Amino acid sequence: MSKLIFEKSHPGANGFALSPMREDMRIPDAFLRAERANLPEVSEVEFTRHFMELSKRAFGVDDGMYPLGSCTMKYNPKVNEWAARQFTALHPLLPEKYAQGVLSLLYDAGEMLKEILGMDAFTLQPAAGAQGEMTGVAMIRAYHEHRGDHKRTKMLVPDSAHGTNPATAHVVGYDVVEVTSNENGLVDLDDLRAKMNGEVAGLMLTNPNTLGLFEKDILAMAEIVHGAGGLLYYDGANLNAIMGMARPGDMGFDVVHVNLHKTFATPHGGGGPGSGPVGAKAHLAPFLPVPVLQKDGGAYRWDFDRPLSIGQMHAFYGNVGVVVKAYAYMLALGAEGIRDACRLAVLAANYLRVRLGEDYDIAYDALCKHEFVLSAARQMHENHVGATDICKRLIDMGYHPPTVHFPLIVKEALMIEPNETESLERLDGFVDAMRAIARECRQHPEIVRTAPHTCPITRVDEVKAARNPVVKYEET
Ligand SMILES: *Cc1c(COP(=O)(O)O)cnc(C)c1O
Repeated sequence: MSKLIFEKSHPGANGFALSPMREDMRIPDAFLRAERANLPEVSEVEFTRHFMELSKRAFGVDDGMYPLGSCTMKYNPKVNEWAARQFTALHPLLPEKYAQGVLSLLYDAGEMLKEILGMDAFTLQPAAGAQGEMTGVAMIRAYHEHRGDHKRTKMLVPDSAHGTNPATAHVVGYDVVEVTSNENGLVDLDDLRAKMNGEVAGLMLTNPNTLGLFEKDILAMAEIVHGAGGLLYYDGANLNAIMGMARPGDMGFDVVHVNLHKTFATPHGGGGPGSGPVGAKAHLAPFLPVPVLQKDGGAYRWDFDRPLSIGQMHAFYGNVGVVVKAYAYMLALGAEGIRDACRLAVLAANYLRVRLGEDYDIAYDALCKHEFVLSAARQMHENHVGATDICKRLIDMGYHPPTVHFPLIVKEALMIEPNETESLERLDGFVDAMRAIARECRQHPEIVRTAPHTCPITRVDEVKAARNPVVKYEET
């Protein structure tokens, strides 16, 4: 293990030089801390080496394939980062009349999303997919309450939904009712029919579902839910799978969120800034968060006068940098490029599904969209090697592991999403690695069970790491 930067500290070592502060710019004593902050003292070169060393121990999309199912860890062209940087000097309190440029960009981005998703109005405020869900479901609640329909206390969520869906419904105050999947991994229409009634506010559908399957009975579902007065929520976080090919608005959905991170040129993960815009059909538009961006003639302004709005979900304009990246990405690709990205993402997933099917069981082995779920149940049964072990062994082979043990309806699940930015050569390399691991499971299972063998840290107590994280340096 290398040292922490605090342990590399030498009193007096310095990586910067400031000119003396002007007397009239001195921070008043009342705002100064009483004791010096305990900061490491290192030279510039040691500082640089420290972080360079740390960066080499991490794994990102720029290092190699990152097939993390549901998270769409695609390569994000650097030009979009450049575009976002051009807007970083704007102050969020700048008066509207001086911010017309960025407002026009946000407006146009909203118009593009309307077109791609087939919705009537958008808010760009939510900072993540889950916050978009919360916004959309709060709008559904506001809609029913506004109509004086107070008996709807339940939200239907299929068992193949993303985990955030039931969590969202619960946080907004609904009782979550699970709808089961049928033998094809799709929503069981009979179960949906049985559970839909006048106490149900709506259905939250993840499409494609977490098995990577397109819910082909969506129109029938819409009829069942709308027929009993409920609304339809579309979890469009994984838009890569359908963008340019199908639109939730045309399928009957009332409200939808998309993740600009994942699909539109911002990487997912690391807790970094995301963006989960929410689109609504006209009847739900009055409930959108305030403020709503309006275009009057040639000028843009924020409209706060929205009496039915659920309120504000994020300060200022939302995560503008992420929207700028998405805007640049959509402009660069154009309509045909967006369709091509979708086609390639689906092709890559199906290619891997068929090739990996020789050594592993595929859960619900059917034409998939952007991802599919492989099961290591066979390896577990025959060699006592599980999905987690296979993931750890992949690290040795230079791949980021897929999403593991999710969805919960598949035993020893490995959820694989290659996305459109991997070449055939890379995909074949991944197949070779997975096949080599399958062979090891049969011949030398111990190697897989004790992987990874090439990392500074091998296996950690993941529960303890999550429950009792030690992230603070304590001086000894
Ligand atoms: C990632 C994801 C979410 C949640 O998005 P966050 O930005 O992580 O909050 C919701 N639904 C689906 C299907 C997802 O893949």
